[in-house]
Amino acid sequence: MKAAQNVAALMAVAFIGAAAQTQTERRVSLVVTGGTVITEDEHHTVLAPGAVAIDGTEIVAVDRADAIAAKYRAAETIIARDQVVLPGLINTHTHAPMVLFRGLADDLALMDWLQKYIFPAEAQTVSPEFVRIGTRLAALEMIESGTTTYADMYYFEEEIAEATRAAGLRGILGQTIIQFPVADAKTPAEGLARAARFIATFKNDALITPAVAPHAMYTNDRATLVACAELARRSGVPLLIHLAETEDEVRQSRARHQLTPAGYLDAIGFWSPRTLAAHGVWMTPDDIAIVKRHAVGLSHNPESNMKLASGAAPIVEYLKAGVSVGLGTDGAASNNDLDMFEAMRQASFLAKHTTHDPTAVPARTALEMATIGGARALAMDRDIGSLEPGKRADLIVVSTGSSRQTPMYDPVSHLVYVTRGDDVRTTIVNGRILMQDRQVRTMNRATVIADANRVAQRIRELRF
Ligand SMILES: [Zn+2]
Repeated sequence: MKAAQNVAALMAVAFIGAAAQTQTERRVSLVVTGGTVITEDEHHTVLAPGAVAIDGTEIVAVDRADAIAAKYRAAETIIARDQVVLPGLINTHTHAPMVLFRGLADDLALMDWLQKYIFPAEAQTVSPEFVRIGTRLAALEMIESGTTTYADMYYFEEEIAEATRAAGLRGILGQTIIQFPVADAKTPAEGLARAARFIATFKNDALITPAVAPHAMYTNDRATLVACAELARRSGVPLLIHLAETEDEVRQSRARHQLTPAGYLDAIGFWSPRTLAAHGVWMTPDDIAIVKRHAVGLSHNPESNMKLASGAAPIVEYLKAGVSVGLGTDGAASNNDLDMFEAMRQASFLAKHTTHDPTAVPARTALEMATIGGARALAMDRDIGSLEPGKRADLIVVSTGSSRQTPMYDPVSHLVYVTRGDDVRTTIVNGRILMQDRQVRTMNRATVIADANRVAQRIRELRF
């Protein structure tokens, strides 16, 4: 009797103990702890040492490491001591499969490069298989260099979506619409039908946001541009377009329409808040006001603009006007990589160089553009872009111990001015570890590279 009472009492104590424990210690799937956590929240909070608690796909808490240790018990823990933890980088403009054209044609002006090399090469090679293999290579490079979300404009976008989802990355993927016949559509109407099917297939995906991507105002007629905008509006999806990339584009637009590209798109009712315009290099103050008025996001691609000598986008003016600015690499054929750390550094340097002002685009602003700024430009800042409770768990862990990074006084300065994609150790998207300690978990590295080299052999045999 006594023994039974004791057992009952012990069980009661154990039960109360367990209850008390679940009250104070919540079970979560993953905790990343011990590193310097750069949150990119509105106060630019930095926690050292900090920790991020993740449950499933969501960030549940971001706090000092000891506070997280007291409140959460994790199924899996990543120790990030002597490392920096930050939101995954957001590449707001690329053409993923173009990694297969990396280094194929360099040192050319945009129109020569496009018309003499890229469009002919695409006409002879782009197929679902090409796109699949190219996207896998791009995804591998992005995971290995800390990009967790990317916006894409290409052909056979459903193949890109499948490969992106399999790799575990987040994508805003736009089916390209262009006036002339291309690999996946003979006419713009065919392209639009393909885009509508693509949107229907991926509309409610956890990682993929389907989008409509009219290539540019100079490669589509008015009816096509309006149809693209209507499809995006009707389907509630983003609209992606190249805008005012070269001086020549603006000159032609003025001659043909008596309007700048931004002004022309305004006049035909193209703009809406879920639009992302890439480049915006040659923009008047009125053009910037148009973009701001419609809450259009801007993707700044400093490396591509410099390499093709397209010019320098007036980023300081955009920021002053309150436009949401993100960073992009553009396709690897004009960069020639997808490293967003380099994009940050070049964005800062280019702004300083063109304004003759060393305080233009400081490190903090460059990092903001690559994270929460990119999320805002994509109208996704409720879900991604910073480490805050309730957001998707998209984050990276970066080592800071290399000779190049020693010593470190300011982690934000280091991320922008000395860190490279190769310094990323761990990449997490939607709570899933895609790479840990440089080991990519979601793809077979050797196969991805061998497949890409096999396609490159065919490209090598093309005659221009
Ligand atoms: Zn582009």
